[in-house]
Amino acid sequence: MRIDLHTHSTASDGTDTPAELVANAAAAGLDVVALTDHDTVRGHAEAVAALPEGLTLVTGAELSCRIDGIGLHMLAYLFDPDEPELARERELVRDDRVPRAQAMVRTLQELGVPVTWEQVARIAGDGSVGRPHVATALVELGVVDSVSDAFTSAWLGNGGRAYADKHELDPFDAIRLVKAAGGVTVFAHPLAVKRGAVVPETVIARLAEAGLDGIEVDHMDHDKSTRARLRGLAAELGLLPTGSSDYHGTRKTVRLGEYTTDPEIYGEITRRATGAFPVPGAGGRLPA
Ligand code: AMP
Ligand code: FE
Ligand code: FE
Ligand code: ZN
Repeated sequence: MRIDLHTHSTASDGTDTPAELVANAAAAGLDVVALTDHDTVRGHAEAVAALPEGLTLVTGAELSCRIDGIGLHMLAYLFDPDEPELARERELVRDDRVPRAQAMVRTLQELGVPVTWEQVARIAGDGSVGRPHVATALVELGVVDSVSDAFTSAWLGNGGRAYADKHELDPFDAIRLVKAAGGVTVFAHPLAVKRGAVVPETVIARLAEAGLDGIEVDHMDHDKSTRARLRGLAAELGLLPTGSSDYHGTRKTVRLGEYTTDPEIYGEITRRATGAFPVPGAGGRLPA
């Protein structure tokens, strides 16, 4: 069983439509794929409708959180998408991404970059707009060579010249809300230091006490020693260790299924979830 529990589509900052994503996941030999767009579930319906036979979809989202001024991402799986409190919080975060991206565009203009909101809005389409879309605009304008080159202090990196804050959730609230919606939480890439400041292990321990289910261990932004440290921490704190690609289509170099989750860990995640169930692909046939 090949299981990839963290991917993005055009519903947020990936470049595959949800339908393309599930087709590519099947072609990559995956048995299970989770669609975890930033702060939205909007891609789920299309992914379900296009799900190939033999591929199972885990519905999810990646919630933008912040604690003590440090940003972090909380993966949420198999929650009830209609649970009103969590739905409202997702909407608050997603909607605030628009004025925030507009603020980044204005700052870039002040820095002399001829970027426009219309350009960024075109790139984002109807996905939750984020820094990768602004970064793509900078690539189009020839300001930087690649999306990742835009994530520096000169441009859009945390605290960078054109960086702007957005509304984010307290991770303790996120855990509580996801649980109340029958879902399971996994702290995404907790020690991805190349993205900026990360929370100390004491915070991970407090999140575990508050009901966090797991931590992402195998991820491209963790080096070998970081993975070993996180695996130890997961064992110590009773957290489920996961592995995932965090695929973003052509906006990142990582391939679908480049990192995967152990089937037993996946089984435990599905056993804990009560808000939604994994969707088996019917290959275009209606489920019996
Ligand atoms: P936002 O949620 O709008 O603040 O943007 C965060 C997103 O930017 C992440 O989900 C990644 O997709 C992307 N990102 C963050 N850091 C980097 C980086 N160093 N290189 C490339 N993409 C990054
Ligand atoms: Fe992203
Ligand atoms: Fe993330
Ligand atoms: Zn992600």
